[in-house]
Amino acid sequence: MDEKFILYILLFFLGIISLLVGVIVYLILVLNRRPESNLKQYFDKLTRDFKRGRSEQTFFCQNHPDVSGSTVCRICEKVFCEACTKEHDSMLFCVEHFDLIIKNEWAEIAAAIVSPNDSDHSMFLYDFKKQLWEKDKIPSFVQVHYKINVDSDQIESHVKLFAKKAEAEALRGRLVFFQKTEEGSVSFSQ
Ligand SMILES: [Zn+2]
Ligand SMILES: [Zn+2]
Repeated sequence: MDEKFILYILLFFLGIISLLVGVIVYLILVLNRRPESNLKQYFDKLTRDFKRGRSEQTFFCQNHPDVSGSTVCRICEKVFCEACTKEHDSMLFCVEHFDLIIKNEWAEIAAAIVSPNDSDHSMFLYDFKKQLWEKDKIPSFVQVHYKINVDSDQIESHVKLFAKKAEAEALRGRLVFFQKTEEGSVSFSQ
């Protein structure tokens, strides 16, 4: 057999093997990923609130004033260090609200589907959540899933607001009133 031919065959298999190793390393990285920290989202929101002149939070752990925070509780939106948070369903909560999460049944209140360019259209869900908590201490949380829209070949964010099942119906009604002054397409969950 031609020496060159054997060399090509060897290179071909070497290529295949590197590709497989690449895929395996990628899968390991994806599967071992820590629950996403919502800190960036929080900073974005904080910046927005700051511009509106309503921000009074700090970036240090609520329990350890000398430790900088690493994440934000989904319920109370306060900053905590890693030791002060617990994970449930890929979301992080402070210890108090982790208990609340696992002891209650939760139902979807509303959902908004937004593309990366118009993410402001889901802001009313975050604003509504903030109002529920600040005015009435009603707990709720926002969960975001990313999906690829095959038709437009774009990544969409499915932004969903959850609250206690027992309060869900009343809160859907309240959101309708809240939304009357807001833009955005919303679908109410049954
Ligand atoms: Zn909390
Ligand atoms: Zn802490």
